[in-house]
Amino acid sequence: HWTRICARLQAEVGEVEYRTWLKQITIGPVDGDEITLNLPTRFLRDWVRSQYGDRLSTLWNAEIPEIRRVELQVARADGPAAVSPSPSVAADVATGADDRGAAPAAPAAEDRVPENRNDLAAPLDPRFTFDTFVVGKPNEFAYACARRVAERPSSPGFNPLFLYGGVGLGKTHLMHAIGSELVRGGAVSVAYMSAEKFMYRFIAAIRSQSTMEFKEQLRSVDVLMIDDLQFLIGKDNTQEEFFHTFNALVDAGRQIVVSADKSPSDLSGLEDRLRTRLGCGMVADIHATTFELRISILESKAAASGVAVPGKVLEFLAHKITSNVRELEGALNRLIAHANLFGRPVTLEATQDVLHDILKAHDRRVTIEEIQRKVSEHWNIRLTDMSSARRARAVARPRQVAMYLAKQLTSRSLPEIGRKFGNRDHTTVMHAVARVTELMERDTAFAEDVELLRRMLES
Ligand code: ADP
Ligand code: MG
Repeated sequence: HWTRICARLQAEVGEVEYRTWLKQITIGPVDGDEITLNLPTRFLRDWVRSQYGDRLSTLWNAEIPEIRRVELQVARADGPAAVSPSPSVAADVATGADDRGAAPAAPAAEDRVPENRNDLAAPLDPRFTFDTFVVGKPNEFAYACARRVAERPSSPGFNPLFLYGGVGLGKTHLMHAIGSELVRGGAVSVAYMSAEKFMYRFIAAIRSQSTMEFKEQLRSVDVLMIDDLQFLIGKDNTQEEFFHTFNALVDAGRQIVVSADKSPSDLSGLEDRLRTRLGCGMVADIHATTFELRISILESKAAASGVAVPGKVLEFLAHKITSNVRELEGALNRLIAHANLFGRPVTLEATQDVLHDILKAHDRRVTIEEIQRKVSEHWNIRLTDMSSARRARAVARPRQVAMYLAKQLTSRSLPEIGRKFGNRDHTTVMHAVARVTELMERDTAFAEDVELLRRMLES
C-alpha cells in the first residue's frame, strides 16, 4: 500500500519536493481507524502535516478504507521517538575551507537527519577548478571574468558577476572554481548554493522561525553564489528575499555571483528591479561549444584518465555529441570505464558498440525536406513530385520510399508526414510504409537502394 501511495505522491508533487519532505516518512502501527506515520524531526513532521496531511489521509483511505485518520509523529525509523531541535540554518553556510571538513563533525546521533536533508549548503566540488576548466572561444570571456572575480572580489564593474548559458556548458564549474580559489586564498567566507536550495532553506527558516538567523548568516558571507537563478521564476517570496539579501551584500561591498540559463533581460518572470540589479555588474555569456573546444576538453579529460584514447575516437565523439559538455564527458567516462574493466584498447568499433544508446539519441536530426530532396535526386524525379498528385509508378514509388524514410528517421507522426507530401492522408503514409517494407523483403536490389539512401541521410 505504502509503495503505491508513495508513487502517487511522487507523481503529484514532483521528484524534488518528494525527496525533500516525503521520502523520510516511515510507517508506524495501525490502531483502529488510525495509522501512524513517523518523521525524523519535529520540523519535518509539522511541515508534512501542514502541507500534505490531508492528502495523506485521503490516499490511505483510498488504499485501505478502514483507515480514516493519519497521525504524524516524530520518531526515528529505527527506534523510539526523539524530538530534534529545529534545523539551524547556521550550519548551512559554508565558511572558508575549514567548515567543509568540520561539517560532519559532532552532531549528536539524534540530531542527524537522514541523508542530511536540512543541511542544504552545497560544498564546493574539488574537481571543478580553474585548472580543470578548458578554455576556448565560446567560454573565454566568462572564464576571464570568473578569474578576475576570484583574484579581486567585489571590484566595481564585476559585482555582481552574472554567468549565463545553456545546460552543461560550465556555469557551475566556474562558480565552484571561483569559490575554491577564494577559499584557498583564505580569510574569505564563501556560500555557494543553487537557487532551489536557497528557496528550501528560506522556507525552512520561516517554518522554524529562524528567518533572522538565516538572514544574518547570508549577510555575513563575503561571497554569495547562487546557481541556476531561473528556478526562482514564479517564486515571488523567495525572489523578494533574495533581492534584499542581494542589496544588503552589494551595499556592504561583498561579491555576488549568479548563474542562469538566460541573460538578465531575458529572464522574464523575475521581478524587474531584480533583473535590473542583476545586469548592472558584469554579464558574461558562455556560448555553445565548438568542435575545437569539444576536442580540447576530450583530450584533457582523456589525458587525466590515463587511458589511451585514439584521436579518431575523440573526433568521432566531438562530432556526434554536440549538445553539452556533461554528456560528452559522460560518454568518455563510460568508454574509459569499459577500457579499464575489460582491459581492452579503445577503438572506434568498441566506441560505437559501448555508446550505441547515447549515439542513437544524438543522431543528427534529419528533416523531411532533406529526405525528399535526396530521394528525388536518387531516382531523378522532380522535387515537386513529392507533393504532386501524379500517380505514375516512376513517381509514386520514390514518394513512398521518402514517406517510409520519414517515418524511420524522424519523430514526425503519420499525419504530419502526410501533410508534407502534398497534404496526403495519414493512411496513405501508413500504406507507403507497409508497401516499402514488403518490397524490401522481396527485392534485394530495391532494399539496397533504400538502405543506401538511409545511410546517406544519417551520416
Ligand atoms: P552547467 O552548470 O552550465 O549546466 P556544469 O558546470 O555543471 O554546467 O558542467 C557540466 C560538466 O561539464 C561538468 O562536469 C564540468 O566539469 C564539465 N565542463 C563544462 N565545461 C567545461 C570546460 N570548459 N572544461 C572542462 N570541463 C567542462
Ligand atoms: Mg549548473
